[in-house]
Amino acid sequence: MFKESPIIRRKSRQIMVGNVPVGGDAPIAVQSMTNTLTTDVAATVAQIKALEAVGADIVRVSVPTMDAAEAFKEIKKQVSVPLVTDIHFDYRIALKVAEYGADCLRINPGNIGREDRVRAVVASARDKGIPIRIGVNGGSLEKDIQEKYTEPTPEALLESAMRHVDILDRLNFHDFKVSVKASDVFLAVGSYRLLAKQIDNPLHLGITEAGGLRSGSVKSSVGLGLLLSEGIGDTLRVSLAADPVEEVKVGFDILKSLKLRSRGINFIACPSCSRQEFDVISTVNELEQRVEDIMTPMDVSIIGCIVNGPGEAEVSDLGLTGSSKKSGFYLDGIRQKERFDNNNLVDQLEARIRAKAKLMDKANQIDFKEITE
Ligand code: SF4
Repeated sequence: MFKESPIIRRKSRQIMVGNVPVGGDAPIAVQSMTNTLTTDVAATVAQIKALEAVGADIVRVSVPTMDAAEAFKEIKKQVSVPLVTDIHFDYRIALKVAEYGADCLRINPGNIGREDRVRAVVASARDKGIPIRIGVNGGSLEKDIQEKYTEPTPEALLESAMRHVDILDRLNFHDFKVSVKASDVFLAVGSYRLLAKQIDNPLHLGITEAGGLRSGSVKSSVGLGLLLSEGIGDTLRVSLAADPVEEVKVGFDILKSLKLRSRGINFIACPSCSRQEFDVISTVNELEQRVEDIMTPMDVSIIGCIVNGPGEAEVSDLGLTGSSKKSGFYLDGIRQKERFDNNNLVDQLEARIRAKAKLMDKANQIDFKEITE
């Protein structure tokens, strides 16, 4: 049983997106993107706050027009999570949002056009301490690169990314992160592997246009899981055709699976099985929703019978082992005298999880105080 992740992360330089460090030894940041019209300030603020509530470290907002830039100014005043502004070509929008407090500019320097405009954007970013994100996508490679490689390949995505990287390097600007996303897992993974060898800037991971909630989560888990397990990746977005709040939850679940971030409850539970003494599936699904607000890292095992119940409970913070009528309860791996009535498991478990989280939070605060004093 691994208590800590055995993954050795690639050494990358660190940049700051607002107050969130990205790269180096910083925790891998989870991002998502709003899908409201940015000009609808109230709706966009509400969505950013919903993303923040489930733990998004950074949120990206699209700023396609000057009207959206003006709306961004208002949005920025009302939220605290760092915001990346998504700008495609227009350098004037980049300058405007930099002035309005953007925490990162998502713009490819090679797409800005004239050299003086590129210099103006980079000078503004440097002056205000804002990083840039270069983003290459397998579906929108430059025409000459498409012709050279005939189809998107990892080498093609790398060449495209390095064009933008070289521009920033020439301007002696190193405060940037890069993504080379593709909807194909092998293409994305191959591209990131090449890029990771080429530069030391932080890498933003994503399998773009991955699909719906289920299929996209699986595809992202496989692709990002391969990269993360090799130590590649400093920030990520799970791109789903679903509520962006789900992207954040899945992002954290991927990181939790690899023990790269510990945040919230890690459930260990039985699959469907006829030996279960209570309905594990409905219990876990309801419980997961009820304790979504708890950020305390905690392992909770909900196991339907004694075949694996005691073994899992002994290595969990809180464990339940199914038994007829009343199930066995474990705390910190130790079997308790108390037993839970199988007819009311969710309420009982929720109460105990909340109590345990409070205790763990308190203990962590005491430790922190001792360290800082
Ligand atoms: S622990 Fe028991 S209930 Fe759970 S999967 Fe195994 S046999 Fe089935």
